[in-house]
Order: sequence, then C-alpha cells, then structure tokens
Amino acid sequence: MKTKIVLLGPPGSGKGTQGEKLGSELGYTRLSTGDMLREAVRNGTPLGIKAKEFMDSGGLVPNDLIIGLMKEKISEVEGGVIFDGFPRTVEQADALEKEIEVDLAINLDVEDEELVARLTNRRSCPKCNAVYHLASNPPRKEGVCDKCGSALYQRDDDKAATVQNRLKVYRDNTFPLIAYYKNKGKLVTIMGVGSIDEIFAKVKKAVQ
Ligand code: AMP
Repeated sequence: MKTKIVLLGPPGSGKGTQGEKLGSELGYTRLSTGDMLREAVRNGTPLGIKAKEFMDSGGLVPNDLIIGLMKEKISEVEGGVIFDGFPRTVEQADALEKEIEVDLAINLDVEDEELVARLTNRRSCPKCNAVYHLASNPPRKEGVCDKCGSALYQRDDDKAATVQNRLKVYRDNTFPLIAYYKNKGKLVTIMGVGSIDEIFAKVKKAVQ
C-alpha cells in the first residue's frame, strides 16, 4: 500500500471526504492544512491572525507560513499519511519533497459547474471537520453533525462570491501540480463524480 499520498483537485472536488474515508477505513493520518488553519483562526493564534485575511478572500496563505506548519506536523506523524490541500503551489511541492518521498498524487477531477454547486451547498462541522451537502449528503438532523452532534455552519469562503475566486486561485497556482506529479510518474487521475462510495472504491484501488 502507498503510504505518502497527496490529494490534488480543486476546492469541492472531494479531497476532504475521500481523505477522511482513507483515514477511517484504512488508517491513514489525514493532514489538512485548511482544517489546521481554520482551527488557528478560531483559537486566535498568531498564525490564525495572519492567515485569516487570505482565507476570507479565497486567496492562498503565504508559502512560508504553510511550509513551516506542515514541517512541524510531518515530524509528528507515524505511518501512512494523506495530504489534503497541501501542496497548493510548486514551491510547497518542492518543500514537501525535501521532507518526505511522496508515493502517489491522486487528482480528483470535477467540472467547475459541479464544484460551485457542491461548495455553496456544503455545510461543515467546526469540531470534527465532517462535511455534508444539503442535497446529496445531508445530516440526519438538519444543522447537526451526525458524528459529534455539533451545530453545522457554512464556511465564509463557501459563499458564492468567494467560490469563484477560489477556483481561479486553484487554476493559477495549484493546477500546475498535476503536470508536476505526472512528470514524476506519480499521478493518478480519478473522475470525482458519482456517489462517495463509488469514488472511494477507485481511490482505494489507486492506493494499493
Ligand atoms: P481548504 O479547506 O483546503 O479549502 O482551505 C481553505 C483555505 O485555507 C484556502 O482557501 C487557503 O486560503 C488556505 N489554505 C489551505 N491550504 C493551503 C495551502 N497549502 N497553501 C496556502 N493556503 C492554504
């Protein structure tokens, strides 16, 4: 089984959902820079204070802040690891190469129209980071997380005005990583459409 896996794909492509399943079903540790940053913002840490304005606009948090954060987390992890939302730039990918050897990059491919529908209908749990979709994957009780019972919320950056900017930022900065990992012979592209379980079956095959 592959042990160092990068999940690539635009916002809303299912990286969080598939990464979470890789964690709960196959035992990987999921490292999500987005979740770490949101927690830092909630706790008002120096990192959170610096990151907030970039996140609110849908832009990227500067590489030096992210790379420092990631290095610290990598040093704490044992066993298989899934990188969700990192790297997002070539500079971050180069920094990751210096820390560990990535075995596989899974690119989740989804059309823009579908991404916008998913992001604007997404609701998230601030406590356990579970995600729901109002139409295709609603919580059992409206507004309440199935897993931990916390009140769900809509991320500010999932509101329509910011979503378009996030997709542009993805195209400009992160899309080149598809070629980056392809050139290293590490890329697998999976169509990120269908049910969560159908997509997960393909993801599972790719990591074996
Ligand atoms: P996500 O939850 O992965 O969609 O991330 C939410 C926001 O956090 C992004 O829109 C960025 O502002 C910031 N962020 C997360 N990961 C990174 C990263 N690797 N590099 C720069 N900014 C990031």
